[in-house]
Amino acid sequence: MSDLPESPLAAGDRHLSVDEARAAIAAVLRPISGQESVPLLQALGRVLAEDLVSPIDVPAHDNSAMDGYAFDGAALQPGTALRLRVAGTVYAGAPGGRTCGAGECLRIMTGAVMPAGLDTVVPHELCRAVGSEGSEGSEGGEVVIEPGALRAGENRRRRGEDLARGTPALRAGRLLTPADLGLVASLGLPQVAVRRRLRVALFSTGDELRAPGQALDPGCVYDSNRTGLAAALQRLGMTVLDLGLVADDPAALEATLRQAMRDADVVLTSGGVSMGDADHTRAVLARLGEVAFWKVAMRPGRPFAFGPLQRPDGAAPIWLFALPGNPVAALVTFYVFAREALLQLAGAAPRPLPALQARCTQAIRKRPGRTEFQRAIVEPAADGPGWQVRLTGSQGAGVLRSMSEANALLVLRHDQGSVAAGEPVEVWLFDGLA
Ligand code: AMP
Ligand code: MG
Repeated sequence: MSDLPESPLAAGDRHLSVDEARAAIAAVLRPISGQESVPLLQALGRVLAEDLVSPIDVPAHDNSAMDGYAFDGAALQPGTALRLRVAGTVYAGAPGGRTCGAGECLRIMTGAVMPAGLDTVVPHELCRAVGSEGSEGSEGGEVVIEPGALRAGENRRRRGEDLARGTPALRAGRLLTPADLGLVASLGLPQVAVRRRLRVALFSTGDELRAPGQALDPGCVYDSNRTGLAAALQRLGMTVLDLGLVADDPAALEATLRQAMRDADVVLTSGGVSMGDADHTRAVLARLGEVAFWKVAMRPGRPFAFGPLQRPDGAAPIWLFALPGNPVAALVTFYVFAREALLQLAGAAPRPLPALQARCTQAIRKRPGRTEFQRAIVEPAADGPGWQVRLTGSQGAGVLRSMSEANALLVLRHDQGSVAAGEPVEVWLFDGLA
């Protein structure tokens, strides 16, 4: 199969720019199929499967936007005070079919159904209650509305004004937020149709890797990528199939990939696979699909492999994202290449990391011709409105602490040169602003 566009596959030794690589990935991916209906509180962060059409008018009836007095706005006369007798009270949730005649009004609570024939509500603070002691403003009393206090039709919410029955309340592809779920509840729906979760098989490669909890043998390091990447996937609402640690051994690699191809939509690896240096690694991948080994003009994280592994039954391919092993490079390449691509596969509408401009507190050396992603902290500017950004500690590709301290990537674009202190720069937020 060859639905990868020509250019990146044919890139040969040419370095792809970050934008070219991102575009090439986005161009070939198609969302997975399959959806399920889940209770609202299980839908947070899930992808809405279809447009959600409102089955009701919201609000369901004309109602009062204020506590006050409902009356017929036609009675308002320019330059003349209006005096109305209070004929009764209407409460929210108790539409009693009450109405009143000429020269009368009804005391009304916020949210109460507008009585038939009445279209205007004067709030308490815009009128004056008069009458015998004890009856001011309630049944038997009177209210006086001074000229110009309000216009006919004010303070009435119309049936369907927030959302008319039959119109879409939410569009397919939304990642459902707390407010969205509240909105769905407001339509009276206890369940919502979401896409099935994307299944991502995840493993780390390297003879030197040990799992946390194991003894750290001489020359070994703990596998941090699997945990960091699994957490990132979890936060995107995806299902992680943890395939563990895989030795630098082609048979082990092939066996693990074949398992992933049975069970997952995507396989995400970090470590040697991305290099494809050893011929046997390339041979395994060539047997299973059409993985491209890209040299991307970026720092950190150059070695990166992407492509389809073909399932024997001809079903949709499983997509391989092989990230570099260096822990910072693994996470940065995840954010730059994998995150949006996985959301796209999951059926989500495009949702890049939030980007903003911030004033760089320090000078940064950079040469044009590659994109650099530096680990950075975006915070409120010390000396005025807006945001400032500073780099975290050591920017070495293996220094995970620099990533842990950061809340954003400071992005120095492909053609950009050095940055002077005080210049605005682009940042991509990957965590909330502290
Ligand atoms: P590689 O891409 O396999 O050449 O690995 C580059 C560097 O990252 C080496 O120092 C590896 O030990 C380290 N590394 C690779 N995979 C992991 C991992 N899963 N967790 C932590 N460090 C890793
Ligand atoms: Mg390795």
